[in-house]
Amino acid sequence: MSSTTTAAIIVAAGTGARSGSAVPKQYAPLGGRAILAHSYEALQRHPAIGRIVVVIGAGQEAALQAAVGDVTAVIGGATRRLSVLAGLEALGGAVDRVLIHDAARPFLSATVIDALLAALDTRDGAVPALPVADTLARDTALSGTLLGGTVARDGLHRIQTPQAFRFPAILAAHRGWRGDEPTDDAQMVRAAGGAVALVPGDPMLEKITHPADFAAAEARLEATLRTRMATGFDVHRLEVGEELWLGGVLIPHDKGLSGHSDADVALHAITDALLGTIAAGDIGTHFPPSDPQWRGADSAQFLQHAASLITGRGGIIDFIDLTLICEEPKVGPHRAAMRDRIAELLRLKPGQVSIKATTTERLGFTGRGEGIAAQAAATVRVPEDQAS
Ligand code: MG
Repeated sequence: MSSTTTAAIIVAAGTGARSGSAVPKQYAPLGGRAILAHSYEALQRHPAIGRIVVVIGAGQEAALQAAVGDVTAVIGGATRRLSVLAGLEALGGAVDRVLIHDAARPFLSATVIDALLAALDTRDGAVPALPVADTLARDTALSGTLLGGTVARDGLHRIQTPQAFRFPAILAAHRGWRGDEPTDDAQMVRAAGGAVALVPGDPMLEKITHPADFAAAEARLEATLRTRMATGFDVHRLEVGEELWLGGVLIPHDKGLSGHSDADVALHAITDALLGTIAAGDIGTHFPPSDPQWRGADSAQFLQHAASLITGRGGIIDFIDLTLICEEPKVGPHRAAMRDRIAELLRLKPGQVSIKATTTERLGFTGRGEGIAAQAAATVRVPEDQAS
């Protein structure tokens, strides 16, 4: 199966009119990140999935960028069906299997993805399904006020997404569709004569639709996350003839920091703090100073790599606290620029980044102006199953 190419399409083109939110619901925050970011990362971290296309509404490019950064996107159509078709066409032909997922179902487990992909060994498609447990009944005159007859629930299922398909089957079903607007993709493959497997769905996969769903989803998410806090510390030497990069900002000064990469001692301390929250070693583990490719490198990439390891596990960065220890330069005039740059790199709000400075009363190497030290603390939340 290693040569099998599996892609995913996330349908995120809706306007979210029913959610009561000012922004389309897929861009509304859930646990500090857009709902779409949860869906995207769940697919991205599954080892079988190599490509992801997000189908967005016209004019949602900036919202997408804010939610998940630079990802592959296409503009959807007037209906869900046309949006999925746009995603399928964007993938082209070099795909064997595709998962089609609604952005508004953020709690997607690897277990569900595994079951769907396994079913494609013998079927054209597969859908997650939950049996109906409640009694089903009509009302007497569609008035919603008087109970009418019950409907047999035997064999009835609620069908969720993602839905998985052999790519040629779903592409042909879409290109050849002549019926009424379908509510999902599996019925299109069935209508074209394909066989679609039922695999066990997941109550966590419920779609977020109404305002009350957000509160329930927040509670679900909170229940799965564990807070971690870790610290980082770094020192670099001040030397004449070097640029002074501090907190991702170039600061005019008569000396600069020398050493590994651009020697941004502040970003290095924060990177180590972030790596510490997931027990992922330290900056030297990931970017060895002995490796010439990191000479003079922009330390922003180290910071963003550490952040991606956390978000890739479904984690959330809550807060960064940095203390710079030096006599010169004065940090105050650059504090806001550093805070904004660090927040930008970590996709946080400026209020989630604290920058402090102190001297050592002219004592020690920092007091003599021989170097700058930085210490950082990072607080994150990571899913319970990733925290051990
Ligand atoms: Mg360093």
